Amino acid sequence: MTARILVVDDIPANVKLLEVKLTAEYFDVITAADGPSAIELARSQAPDLILSDVMMPGMDGFELCRLLKSDSETSHIPVVMVTALSDVTDRVRGLEAGADDFLTKPVNDIALFARVRSLARLKQMMDELRVRQAASSNDEILTEADLENAGGLRDARILLADFSETIAGRVQSYLGEDGHKVHHVRAAQDALAAAQREDFDLLIVSLHLGQEDGLRLCSQFRSQDDTRHVPILLLLDEEDLPRLPKGLEIGVTDYLIKPIDRNELRARTRTQIRRRRYHDKLREMLQRSVALAYTDTLTGVYNRRYMNAHLDRKIMEIAETVKPVSVLMFDIDHFKSINDTYGHNAGDEVLVELAQRVSRGVRDIDLLSRYGGEEFVIVMPDADVEVALNVAERVRALVADQAFQFSGAAGAQQVTVSVGVATTRDPTETVESLIGRADGALYRAKGRGRNCVSSAELEQLSQRAASLGGSD
Ligand code: GH3
Ligand code: MG
Ligand code: MG
Repeated sequence: MTARILVVDDIPANVKLLEVKLTAEYFDVITAADGPSAIELARSQAPDLILSDVMMPGMDGFELCRLLKSDSETSHIPVVMVTALSDVTDRVRGLEAGADDFLTKPVNDIALFARVRSLARLKQMMDELRVRQAASSNDEILTEADLENAGGLRDARILLADFSETIAGRVQSYLGEDGHKVHHVRAAQDALAAAQREDFDLLIVSLHLGQEDGLRLCSQFRSQDDTRHVPILLLLDEEDLPRLPKGLEIGVTDYLIKPIDRNELRARTRTQIRRRRYHDKLREMLQRSVALAYTDTLTGVYNRRYMNAHLDRKIMEIAETVKPVSVLMFDIDHFKSINDTYGHNAGDEVLVELAQRVSRGVRDIDLLSRYGGEEFVIVMPDADVEVALNVAERVRALVADQAFQFSGAAGAQQVTVSVGVATTRDPTETVESLIGRADGALYRAKGRGRNCVSSAELEQLSQRAASLGGSD
């Protein structure tokens, strides 16, 4: 993985040191000597990560971080503060400024690369989602601030797998301060069972779980669907650091060295929860915008565009299946008078209720769509004239047999539909032609007095019979 990293420090030797280390690992490094030029580079060069010194003349690291996080163009870029060793107040101030992580000077190589890789990977995943989301709809782009305002960073569900009750008590009390709930287990199999029962936002795993290997548990979490995308924070002792690269390779998201520092635990947890929530939110938005592209917003059934594409495929498949495809088109009778009598909202309620009733009455392989205002189309693969007529009659009865209730106005209203059916066995017939024939049948059902069913094929047959009868 390659990533572009912006290093900010007023002391040239510090910049050079980080630049050399990161370049050796094939990261693309850009540098700035002060806050204002860092902001400019963050906007123009789109770095994946910013490593910033705290003590700088003019704008210090906290101020820089605050400005980056409050600008929607740069707020999504992770910021790591490089602070003096064990300076607790710096950490708290960094958190308040919106920093995503900390590194202590002198910077340890394993820590540096672990943090950089983890944050850059998350950033790239988020970018991917942002791009897809922007492409599929043009509503709001989420910022970190949106998430925090929505209260998204409290009340996380966290699973802790650690053999020690003392550590568990400490983790529970530190994270409780941020409103998180920590579920503690001591053995790997209990951790796996808990994760199957419940959705967690973060998994904290000790490297040593009694006799068991914490890394094995991490790898199991990574291979299971429910936990594949849940961040993992590994707890380990200083002397176990050599095993950390293996953990990161398996997919551990971040790590913490014992003894657990309260601020560091809270900061790392906060970062992971933020990423997790951001990711979930974006995915939800993405799914919603994808759904919008093929469903009708009022009734929730498929829209006309999707139905057209679906019907086109089903007609072509006749070449292989040699099974007839039927189309059923129905339209509400005198719908205008429902709107006129009860209002447009009541009309909308009828459309919603009708779509629900009808979708309960068709087979799973049938596709119900809203074709236009008060016209619906059902595509039925593997349905001949007889089957289609049966379904049409069922749809007519589902609507007519029970009155529709309106939420506002008193009383109920009977609603009826007229239905037209057309069937084809010809894989070369076009969507327009088949829909056109169903529409013609629907028109004739209206002509016959409404609340009835008409079939294009049966009409053709009876016409032929009539003309044969006439020539006799
Ligand atoms: P017919 O029996 O011949 O079908 O008569 P009709 O009154 O149903 O037909 P017409 O096409 O004259 O009127 C359809 C009405 O449907 C007019 C339009 O305002 C209404 N309509 C279309 N879309 C919607 C909608 O989304 N919500 C509501 N409430 N009404 C709609
Ligand atoms: Mg109508
Ligand atoms: Mg109409």
